[in-house]
Amino acid sequence: MFHKTYKYKLKPTKDQRNLFAQFAGAARFIFNIGLECVKRALDAGLPIPTYTAIANMLPLMKILEKTCWLKTIHSQVLQQSLKDLFESIEAYFKKNKKRGFPKYKKRGQRASFRYPQGVRCRDGMVYLPKIGWVRYCDSRPIEGTIKQATVKLIGAHWYVCIVCIVEIEVPEVHITEDKVLGIDVGIKNYISTSDGTKIDNPAYLYQLLEKLRYLSKSLSRKKKFSQNWYKTRNKIQRLHIRISNLRRDFIHKLSTVLTKNHGVLAICIEDLNIPGMVKNRKLARSISDASWGTLYEFLAYKCEWLGKRFLKIDRFYPSSKLCSSCGNKQDMPLHVRVYDCAVCGLRLDRDINASINIRSAGTSELIACGEIRIGVLNEAGIGGF
Ligand SMILES: [Zn+2]
Repeated sequence: MFHKTYKYKLKPTKDQRNLFAQFAGAARFIFNIGLECVKRALDAGLPIPTYTAIANMLPLMKILEKTCWLKTIHSQVLQQSLKDLFESIEAYFKKNKKRGFPKYKKRGQRASFRYPQGVRCRDGMVYLPKIGWVRYCDSRPIEGTIKQATVKLIGAHWYVCIVCIVEIEVPEVHITEDKVLGIDVGIKNYISTSDGTKIDNPAYLYQLLEKLRYLSKSLSRKKKFSQNWYKTRNKIQRLHIRISNLRRDFIHKLSTVLTKNHGVLAICIEDLNIPGMVKNRKLARSISDASWGTLYEFLAYKCEWLGKRFLKIDRFYPSSKLCSSCGNKQDMPLHVRVYDCAVCGLRLDRDINASINIRSAGTSELIACGEIRIGVLNEAGIGGF
């Protein structure tokens, strides 16, 4: 069983748009109230209130004069907003401190609300409880059972993300040593693979980033909140969305090509410390632009669906310093683009050399955990030892 998310652009009527804004506003309101309760408890050194304790206040809030407007909102949407809050608080305390404590949601920022159930789809229309049937751009058919749905505003348009549970028959895969691919990610080349392929960020992304830089400069020269300032700001917002769509599309296509390759049964990649790297301001821009986090995410789930292995290699493994042929270790400053081995004389592109090392490290790990059986290799005559 897997989760699959479908995203569609909605085509709401004017009344429905108003309802969306109301629902998103209410979800934000409840989220912020919950967060305030939790913060006050923390400041006072008291135990954090539970989800149930705060959710139980909802019926009362629907009666109180100040907050009775909440009664037009679907209860599950409000509860879900609280659940999301408590999930991120729990994640913060349990494991993922890097993501930080949840922040108050602000008006006009990422308006969204979520239905945990009750959503149906038919003939290019989606049924949202208490809002009704809303038309959407039916770009592809839905498979599986609908589990939950999120409605969100991106730029000037509302979208719905529908999460479905799908049954996928995952093929059983026997990995052999020759079917392991190593990938090195970089700034100069987006990725380099151990079979010698290099893939760059697409040129159109650079062009659009250039345009973005130009518009941002132009915005800073305009009088704040003037007509022209708003015009430019909207242009910038639209461009951000366009860049993010194009980049996502690029990463989808790239990860599909990599995972669908029949010659590859396992993909190894260096585990980058992305939040740590983005703190380094000089690299920050190009790294955020490269969005490797998304690439890793897509590779991981696409591999999983195909029964292939996706492996992250310890980020302290010195992949770029080792010689992929003799194992010699030498210093490799960032500007040196070719690995020139002082011991065996190997001359190889820096990133390709690194990706071969990543492949070796991944292969050893797969052998160590028994995913590659050496006996099988010898029978097939590939192992060579
Ligand atoms: Zn060497």
